[in-house]
Amino acid sequence: MATRHDWTKEEILAIYDKPLMELMYEAATVHRQHHDPNKVQVSTLLSIKTGGCPEDCGYCPQAARYHTDIEENDLMSVPQVKAQALRAKASGSSRVCMGSAWRNVKDGEEFDQVLEMVRTINKLDMEVCCTLGMVTENQAKRLAEAGLYAYNHNLDSSEEYYEKVISTRGYQDRLDTLDNVRKSNVTVCSGGIIGMGEKKEDRAGMLVALSTLTPQPESVPINALVPVEGTPMEDQELVSIWEMLRMIATTRIVMPETQVRLSAGRTNMSQEGQAMCFFAGANSIFAGDKLLTTPNPDVNEDMELFKELGLKPQQPFEQHEQPKTVEAEDAQVKPLGEKPKWSRPKHTIEKNLEAKEKAKEAKKAKA
Ligand code: SF4
Repeated sequence: MATRHDWTKEEILAIYDKPLMELMYEAATVHRQHHDPNKVQVSTLLSIKTGGCPEDCGYCPQAARYHTDIEENDLMSVPQVKAQALRAKASGSSRVCMGSAWRNVKDGEEFDQVLEMVRTINKLDMEVCCTLGMVTENQAKRLAEAGLYAYNHNLDSSEEYYEKVISTRGYQDRLDTLDNVRKSNVTVCSGGIIGMGEKKEDRAGMLVALSTLTPQPESVPINALVPVEGTPMEDQELVSIWEMLRMIATTRIVMPETQVRLSAGRTNMSQEGQAMCFFAGANSIFAGDKLLTTPNPDVNEDMELFKELGLKPQQPFEQHEQPKTVEAEDAQVKPLGEKPKWSRPKHTIEKNLEAKEKAKEAKKAKA
């Protein structure tokens, strides 16, 4: 089946709602047409700058306004990142995804340091992905020149539900960032989170937004919310495995070529549940005992599961060729020192405000 870019919400919902066995069979069939079903990519997520984020994403323990147990860290050094990447490579990862708790990328010393991290990891022959917040076209091109393989920027949910989760930036900012990345040679990674209180219509809405991009994102992470104490979503119920399977299978069917990533929330899944996700078309997991700040299964446990299921870790650059790294002194794309006007929507989110107030009180009580 050729990749379609005109999926409607109704069509996607009809797929999502199919009898589960039929849905799984269809997804597994599409998966086999486009991917080796016995290969799964192992990626390592590295939080290069943790906490203190000015945004108000309702699910995120790194937002400075909520009271969580996150230990804040300044930007890691290049040798620290290199050491972690080497460790990840030795334990079977072919991709390193570096995340920083920033609203958007700013030209300057810190971004130059991230560019050096990208150069360093690309030279280790690993796929390098970054998730640094909103980026301009010039910044995306500088990342591309350094050897970045992928840029992650999640749409999180449907446009309608997004407004109930985040008030410090708009959906269009997300889409503009994806567009800026697309204008460079960097591949696009964008997905979302289920279990934030959204309806299945919102899940379908997010898949419409992603699948109608041309080309579709090369990578789509599907996360299950891990409710963290102190965040506005601390009381949210855990997503059931059945919902996760439906979401993975539907994503696979509407985006047949993309790498579907089974991301946060794996610790709450049984090994059998994870195996079913691989059958339904998930072909990537994140390794390491932490996913930025939330818990994740141990690497050894993952490798045992791979052995049990006869799965092999995917090698780097099987989907796209390795980008070439241009050294800093030879860079053609110069920083523009831009001050982009990313939007700040005016709406308020009651739950987020309440969590912010609670955090203030907790701080006062501690003082
Ligand atoms: S998800 Fe990212 S942008 Fe949102 S609060 Fe967390 S670190 Fe900041």
